[in-house]
Amino acid sequence: MNVKEVLDDARKVLADSNIEDAPLEAEVLLRDTLKKDRVGLYLALDDELSTEQQNAFRDRLARRLDDEPTAYILGHREFYGRDFLVDASVLVPRPETELLVEKALEIARKHRLFVIAEVGTGCGAVAISLALELPHATVYANDISASALEVARTNSRKHGVSDRVHLLRGDLLDTLPEPVEMVVANLPYVRESDLPRSGPVSREPRLALDGGTDGLDKIRRLCIQAQAVPGSGGYLLLEVGEGQARAVSAFLRGLFPPAEVEVTPDLSGIDRVVSVMLP
Ligand code: GLN
Repeated sequence: MNVKEVLDDARKVLADSNIEDAPLEAEVLLRDTLKKDRVGLYLALDDELSTEQQNAFRDRLARRLDDEPTAYILGHREFYGRDFLVDASVLVPRPETELLVEKALEIARKHRLFVIAEVGTGCGAVAISLALELPHATVYANDISASALEVARTNSRKHGVSDRVHLLRGDLLDTLPEPVEMVVANLPYVRESDLPRSGPVSREPRLALDGGTDGLDKIRRLCIQAQAVPGSGGYLLLEVGEGQARAVSAFLRGLFPPAEVEVTPDLSGIDRVVSVMLP
């Protein structure tokens, strides 16, 4: 079979299994198998695949059909213009989380903030992006999962920021060795009852997705902790799920009465980032 036939076939197989973006997914998996970029693949449409290549591609396709996220199969994912290693111990970075980075950068630059914490860092994409965009900043990044921190460590070395991204194991703000000026977090916020039983998200760590009955267990706990951290009075930026911004804003106003809460929508128009300056 040649590249075009294999590609057409895979697109159909994925589409028949109701996999979203089947044409693109098939292409990405085939490019990874053949080690070709987009242009290279389309220049090679008439090339015959070796048996070895066909088997390797069939293996990738089978994993995807078995609900494994493409990012895990490839072992990496692009985020904020850079490449991050990922595996099954971390959530795959989502495009909408780039808004959290953008908002954090905007606030950090405007108010000249240099000490930042990211809570629940996973593969480290947010913390490392912040460190790279803010060359004078120190970033504390923690996670409760040791295996996630291993991935973050590899990424922070890969991007040359391991001297400024301090990885800490622990729960929420418990681990911070010094007061910080900004706390950024993409905590688990999926309602327990909404956790998917199939599809690629079902293969991601539940620990990174499960936000309890209304999805806000972890977020509320972080807000309460932020209130108790001595010398806080910095900025708190939270990614939230669809329909949660209002409840989170109200909760924050209740905890920090004079605080002004800002809500920023993502590119799909979903209120995605809630930010507040703590009094
Ligand atoms: N955006 C993710 C999803 O919908 C959830 C990420 C999170 O819980 N922080 O799958």
